[in-house]
Amino acid sequence: MKITVIGTGYVGLVAGLGFSKWGNEVVCLDVDKEKIENLQQGICPIYEPGATTQLKDGLASGRLRFTADTELAVRHGEIIFIAVGTPEQTDGSADLSFVYTAADCIAKYADSDKIVVDKSTVPVGTAHDLSCYIQKILHSQDKRIHIDVASNPEFLREGRAVGDFNNPDRIVLGVSSEYAKERLTVLYSPFFRSNKPVIITTPETAEMIKYASNAFLATKITFINEIANLCEQVGADIGQVAAAMGKDGRISPKFLHPGPGYGGSCFPKDTKALAAIGERFAAPQTIVESVIRANEKQKKRAAGRVKRRFPSGARLAVLGLSFKPETDDIRESPAIEIVNSLLEEGSFILQLYDPKAMENARRAVNGPMQNMIWCTSANAAVADVDAILIPTEGGEFTSLDFDKIGKNMRQKVLFDFRNIYGKERLEKLGFEYYGTGFNPERENR
Ligand code: NAD
Repeated sequence: MKITVIGTGYVGLVAGLGFSKWGNEVVCLDVDKEKIENLQQGICPIYEPGATTQLKDGLASGRLRFTADTELAVRHGEIIFIAVGTPEQTDGSADLSFVYTAADCIAKYADSDKIVVDKSTVPVGTAHDLSCYIQKILHSQDKRIHIDVASNPEFLREGRAVGDFNNPDRIVLGVSSEYAKERLTVLYSPFFRSNKPVIITTPETAEMIKYASNAFLATKITFINEIANLCEQVGADIGQVAAAMGKDGRISPKFLHPGPGYGGSCFPKDTKALAAIGERFAAPQTIVESVIRANEKQKKRAAGRVKRRFPSGARLAVLGLSFKPETDDIRESPAIEIVNSLLEEGSFILQLYDPKAMENARRAVNGPMQNMIWCTSANAAVADVDAILIPTEGGEFTSLDFDKIGKNMRQKVLFDFRNIYGKERLEKLGFEYYGTGFNPERENR
């Protein structure tokens, strides 16, 4: 099939790579010309395992093209995916201006029937509103073509996006016509053949499934974070609590890992958008509203623990700056918030390292230049410091040799916010161990 994808961010690019891999002729459009030029040369703008290989394969096959030419892109696709950003506005609701700009372009340049599919995360009712909006423009231009609007929310996880796209837990197709249903069924036929769950529903339900799923996951994370905070006070072992809870099939062990709060480009904005939708339709999402507040507190709490331990400042190593491992995405990263909060004090010198996100982190960190040392490896970052902070777990951070590292530290203090290393193990090595849910021995009751 001929497919167009508008927006080549994490979602649009990965979708474009996937569709071309399945044998479709794909054109990806972006307004960012530099990004397009890089993609045309096989340079991937994001770090995502497997993406560069698929990009090069796609370009070599001739089935994958990148362009900044809107007219060409819109005319190409029988199905046009919209995968542009939907950032949060000051009131928490989703900013749909990029989506509507894409719709304007489609209405302007389309010269045949199309199916427009929203992959961006958008409020319930957007597919319907977009359809009316496009029809109105077509009508005003006296264009006798039909444009169907469907919803196909994306559930991929950054860091595993390529794998998730090709092996999803489920596909959700929100359609309002038999024609859109038939064409999208053809496009997604590889998943029908492999018996993946495909949920075919209305656009409104599809849009709601996306928000409900993200809000539920954010709630689960926040729940275990608050239980961990309580464990810290009462001396219960959060590791055992979470593991035992997870053995209950109704609960499951996933998303029961305490930490310094959720981040990323989706959970923070999607929870706020859902709360805003609830308010708008007088169906308040009180659980989600308190999740949002609790998560903000959790991020601040992490930095607060460090400040309390070092009231007059210290030299600290910070390992992991992205919002989660295996990505260079630092959007709403708790690690960046912790770093910025410490830099604000003026009394902390930070030795910073991340395996993938250094470039993005440099742009997001605010503070005096002389208080930041950007290191080229984890080993360089941990040398001669008073404490090590691990806000984001990453491949190389899960196997650090603390026996060796401790010998080159000024003081042996570890803030293991992701509970990678056991308290007992580190205390045996002479470390003062702070995990999420764990205080050092001397602070426990
Ligand atoms: P992104 O910000 O990484 O990328 C968006 C891209 O769209 C940018 O490259 C931008 O230049 C381009 N763009 C904006 N307006 C355009 C236009 N009119 N024409 C062409 N290109 C345009 O965003 P993302 O992380 O890929 O997210 C996209 C959407 O998917 C959002 O709604 C997001 O909530 C949702 N989503 C994201 C993830 C994720 O893990 N990142 C997962 C599921 C869903």
